[in-house]
Amino acid sequence: MKSINELDLKGKSVIVRVDFNVPMRDGSITDDSRIKAAIPTLKELAKNNCKVILLSHLGRPQKDTDSQGNIKKKTYSLRLVAERLNELLPYSVSFVDENTGEKVTEAASKLKEGEFLVLENTRFAEGEKNNSAALAADWRALGEIYVNDAFGTAHRNHASTVALAEQFNPDSKGAGLLMSKEVAEGYSVLENPTSPVVAVVGGSKVSDKIGLLENMIDLADEIIIGGGMAYTFIAAQGGLVGNSLLEEDYFQLARKIVKKAKDNNTGIHIPEDSVVADQFHRDAKTKVVSSREISDDWMGLDIGPKAAEQFQKIIMKAGTIIWNGPMGVFEMQPFAKGTEKIAIAIADATSRGAYSLVGGGDSASAVQVLDLTDRMSHISTGGGAMLTLLEGKPLPAVVALESS
Ligand code: AMP
Repeated sequence: MKSINELDLKGKSVIVRVDFNVPMRDGSITDDSRIKAAIPTLKELAKNNCKVILLSHLGRPQKDTDSQGNIKKKTYSLRLVAERLNELLPYSVSFVDENTGEKVTEAASKLKEGEFLVLENTRFAEGEKNNSAALAADWRALGEIYVNDAFGTAHRNHASTVALAEQFNPDSKGAGLLMSKEVAEGYSVLENPTSPVVAVVGGSKVSDKIGLLENMIDLADEIIIGGGMAYTFIAAQGGLVGNSLLEEDYFQLARKIVKKAKDNNTGIHIPEDSVVADQFHRDAKTKVVSSREISDDWMGLDIGPKAAEQFQKIIMKAGTIIWNGPMGVFEMQPFAKGTEKIAIAIADATSRGAYSLVGGGDSASAVQVLDLTDRMSHISTGGGAMLTLLEGKPLPAVVALESS
């Protein structure tokens, strides 16, 4: 995969797939970090006098249609995003409320060097999610170079990320600076980690993290399991977990993972104690008990102090730490301590020289809330994409950038 620094960009018209999938509430952008994350690439293109056409999706418009089945175009429009980008960039940014067709062709042909044009949400187009070659051909006609900087959607097989890239030859396509960095950080952890490698895996479900756990058995020396998924492991081994989150269909798989880890000499650590609650609520009654002896009507919503201490010790000895998923329901203050302690331990281990990769999504927001962002080696902007990469699976958008 070429990076934009290896492409001949001077004065070219460049189609850039960015990830402007920002959170919105009541018609305004609540967090513009994804727009900001693309700025270095966009500035580099402007420096090279490129005419830049920007493609991005926003939300899931196909899943939130009106009673007649029509897309809510106003709700999912990129117009506000284009306006925000215009404020952030010292260059002209315009917007067109279509993503293909005459209006788009005309607006693109009028672009001058160093100017930007944001097209409407790619997911308004039928073929985007089907990876339509015909849709990609419409976009292909707009530019000479294709750049993908949308790491957050690199695991998606969509027209703007895959079919479009496939229509360019290797000398006229490449990864933006954000995409290059994310991919480099992810693969360096997979291919060249400093040992001991500690994987901290949490979150709600085992079913979402199977691929990650399986790959970590080969890669990591120690696997720490926290969050709701821990209770499936505990129950699968005969522990009593009361009302805790449980995936009974995954008992066998949980046992298989533990056995595979043992056979492979990989340590697997399940929380010894838990903060349990009598209801899933921030005002619930709480107590700390053994994770294997949670009585009926109580549920484990965070790792307990003994587990946190044990996990901290393992983390402090790590050369590399891979973190994906919170240790508890960190959105509710009484169940945030475990995630907090683990995040601080990872930050401290990083200060002592360990490399830490925080895999996007909820772990990244926890780090942000705790103001530990600057103390981690790398925080991914793409939860799903980084998870796919760490599972050892190919990222379709990256493969498409490499294809001839
Ligand atoms: P994931 O998206 O799989 O990383 O899961 C993140 C979610 O898991 C967060 O919203 C947490 O609130 C939730 N979570 C973490 N621990 C627990 C738990 N013990 N019980 C229920 N939900 C949990």
